[in-house]
Amino acid sequence: MYIKSYEIALTRFHILIIRNNRHHLSYTYRYYHQNITVYYCGHEHNVVSLAPDKIYSIMIKITLPDGSIKEFEKGTTPIMVAKSISEGLARNVISAKFNKTTVETVTPLETDGSLILYTWNDKEGKTAFWHSTSHIVAQAIEELYPGVKLTIGPAIDNGFYYDVELPNGSISDNDFPAIEKRALEIARGKHDYKLRDVSKADALKFYKDQGNEYKVELIENLEDGTITFCDHDTFTDLCRGGHIPNTGIVKAIKILSVAGAYWRGNENNAQLTRVYGISFPKQKELTEYLELLEEAKKRDHRKLGKELELFTFSQKVGQGLPLWLPKGAALRERLEQFLKKAQKKAGYEMVITPHIGQKELYVTSGHYEKYGADSFQPIHTPKEGEEFLLKPMNCPHHCEIYNAKPFSYRELPKRFAEFGTVYRYEQSGELHGLTRVRGFTQDDAHIFCTPDQLDEEFKNVIDLSLYVLSSLGFDNFTAQVSVRDLDNPDKYIGSVENWEKAEQAIINAANEKGLDYVIESGEAAFYGPKLDFMVKDALGRQWQLGTIQVDYNLPERFDLTYKGSDNELHRPVMIHRAPFGSMERFIALLLEHTGGNFPLWLTPEQVIILPVSEKHEKYAKKVLKSLENNEIRALIDSRNETIGKKIREAEMSKIPFMLIVGESDEAANTISVRKHGGEDLGAISVTTFTDLVNKEINSTLKSFKE
Ligand SMILES: [Zn+2]
Ligand SMILES: [Zn+2]
Repeated sequence: MYIKSYEIALTRFHILIIRNNRHHLSYTYRYYHQNITVYYCGHEHNVVSLAPDKIYSIMIKITLPDGSIKEFEKGTTPIMVAKSISEGLARNVISAKFNKTTVETVTPLETDGSLILYTWNDKEGKTAFWHSTSHIVAQAIEELYPGVKLTIGPAIDNGFYYDVELPNGSISDNDFPAIEKRALEIARGKHDYKLRDVSKADALKFYKDQGNEYKVELIENLEDGTITFCDHDTFTDLCRGGHIPNTGIVKAIKILSVAGAYWRGNENNAQLTRVYGISFPKQKELTEYLELLEEAKKRDHRKLGKELELFTFSQKVGQGLPLWLPKGAALRERLEQFLKKAQKKAGYEMVITPHIGQKELYVTSGHYEKYGADSFQPIHTPKEGEEFLLKPMNCPHHCEIYNAKPFSYRELPKRFAEFGTVYRYEQSGELHGLTRVRGFTQDDAHIFCTPDQLDEEFKNVIDLSLYVLSSLGFDNFTAQVSVRDLDNPDKYIGSVENWEKAEQAIINAANEKGLDYVIESGEAAFYGPKLDFMVKDALGRQWQLGTIQVDYNLPERFDLTYKGSDNELHRPVMIHRAPFGSMERFIALLLEHTGGNFPLWLTPEQVIILPVSEKHEKYAKKVLKSLENNEIRALIDSRNETIGKKIREAEMSKIPFMLIVGESDEAANTISVRKHGGEDLGAISVTTFTDLVNKEINSTLKSFKE
């Protein structure tokens, strides 16, 4: 319960605000370090006085996301602000951010500031919801596995996990129902989440008494005065906050899986059990999610990649290093040709650079200082004492290509493109199919232009990115414009004027191209603003594909110049861009997006010819020949199998068209066409079929800037 804030004049110069919220009182207490006794509601409270010179306004101004500013009494909580807007909103608010910091919905607000209220429909709301559920599940596990040591339990993209050290034995699928049952019972108790300050000494004692060295280690790295515990029901956890109001909002909990995980992700540390789960405010939403999960399993790119014989991995070659099989390589090659053709039209020139570069190159670019320690370590030559790095990005090489000769402003922009393979170290536990690998190929290009050309170049790159997405059937993408955090100007390099110009160029271009975009302030790289294209995979997880980034840093570091109309040397601006992002990730997402049913122009085999019997093989070959002459990719299934079996297997391999050739076809010089999925197009001539295929291809694959 909340009691209205009171102000009590202690002397002429003292004003005190008291609330029945322990958290707030202890905060004030710690801040002023002065004890006096005052009276409140007739009861004696040991609270605090303020220094005589500190007389506080008891009203604060809260700025809401729509820009409106409302006045509230100091100590108002986010949930009270929600109530002042509408009761409906207050019922749905489960998380809040105040001045860019996550707060509890019951945290008293002490200063002017901007407040964002989140519901389940917001990403931040889900994060609070899932993290809060991890506390409930941790309580259930603690009760069911006495002696368990809890470590950390964050929210993730889809749900949450909790890493625990089990006293003995393990948790298996069979144990999930018991954990879910107990967790739901706890949730139904509608316990409030209560965050409270705790001194470092008390926090350490709490976990030392439990013998939990993990929490002790976490606390040791925290500063006294910043440590909070979160209580609900009988459960207490070390936590910095970000909770929903109470456990009762969680109506459905599912434990999804368990996996091994090292403490702090370091394989030299103890191995823990990671319990993954998810929760929802409605049972129905859980049911829908589980259905989606089933569908996603079918669309998992790792499974489809294997079935369609596109790529593989070999332990011998090394983890996270994909091997492209012939069909996959051909598909990738087609994608590359498709982009090369468009890029040529857009004025790009292809360049080629080696897979390694001298360490010095990355010292110059600044990458070594920033990422060196977490990268593949330098390669040493046997004699001359040279050091090379596996290329983690192509940009420094391309800067040196620009530097190979002087340019005048009339020759800009220069657009250097390369399908450049790069190598980045990822921990083995982080590797995932083609989406997280250690070696991948970027469809990279760097544009070097004058600041005045930025606008136009950006628009051109957006055109190219949109062309790529639409040709591959990604209609459902979002764009994100990442700009500076204006409160932290020191974080960024480059002049304010240039930044303003670049951000405006991106926003103008996005508007002009009719992009549906969001602006994320503070998400820009330190060297420049950017625009990213995001798409969702089969599970609804968001992935970044194409990216366009403005860079003021590398031209400076590599001392890139051009001669301006004033005959003086100037710095060009650099744009990094990759419409696919990386070939590996793009193909993975395309697989999940299409379920393996690629657009007709891209698919490995467009047609399979199925002779009804051996007798018709000659005719089948004749059909194949004429398809090949029309650049249609086809093959014959001439195995001695029943036509039924051949059709079933062709369905499995997701080949778009099956051409069945038998007695009557041969006699009439036709083919019987069956589409993937079962649609029967009847007996038609090869010419009619060829037209049909070309028409379908042309409907998705237009040429760039037609
Ligand atoms: Zn928490
Ligand atoms: Zn780059």
